Amino acid sequence: MTPNWTEQREALREWLLSHPRILIGCDFDGTLAPLMPHADEARLPRVTGEAMQRLIALPGVALAVISGRAIADLRQRVALDGAWYAGNHGLEMAAADGSTVVAPGAEDARAALRHALGRLAPLPREMPGVWIEDKGLTASVHYRQASEDCRAQLEACVREAVKGLEALKVRPAKCIWEILPAGEWDKGTALRWFMNRWGVPSNATAFMGDDVTDLNAFRELPDGWTILVGNDVDVKARMRLRHPGDTAMLLEWMAKVRA
Ligand SMILES: [Mg+2]
Repeated sequence: MTPNWTEQREALREWLLSHPRILIGCDFDGTLAPLMPHADEARLPRVTGEAMQRLIALPGVALAVISGRAIADLRQRVALDGAWYAGNHGLEMAAADGSTVVAPGAEDARAALRHALGRLAPLPREMPGVWIEDKGLTASVHYRQASEDCRAQLEACVREAVKGLEALKVRPAKCIWEILPAGEWDKGTALRWFMNRWGVPSNATAFMGDDVTDLNAFRELPDGWTILVGNDVDVKARMRLRHPGDTAMLLEWMAKVRA
């Protein structure tokens, strides 16, 4: 993948100047914040936060952070006034005015998730480097620090834990197995909810992401700006950036142009 920021800059400038209202959606880990050995160490870089705050302050600009993290965790890490948030891959959403929504069916899957987590409880002891993050509506089984041997066996263990629990499904992400409600609700559904709430069509919307789960948001933007960060996903995106350092630079530039 070759970064194409320079070729696309003029088209993006025109986009920023031609829509009275725009929505900018961003994933958090690996897009805004550099990936860390342990997910708990991830922080929003100061320059990125400042650029986001400048964008939020501009008339006609809404900024939404859509992440796999629990919404409370995400809010605390981003900590920007006036941002919109979606956590748990969009299952829980909060608009800038404080109104919140939980995806249909997500609450009902809680009991099944408790059951699966009970089955998985011995796993971190048996597989060093594996840790389980309980995010309320979903759970992440992390293996970035696990050995190749453990990694090879992990998928079967996770699938075994949800066996017979119809309310749940399992999905891969970067060094993570996600356990989540079986319904069709993802980052793209959340982005669409924000687009409707903010009142913008897809051609006035941008989304930046680095992982397979972000492709669901790209799906909603056939004529919007799809911005891919890093090399981990092989997909067509309108703009390609190298790493979260580029994201910071792009957001700063967008704020300057739109102002
Ligand atoms: Mg990410």
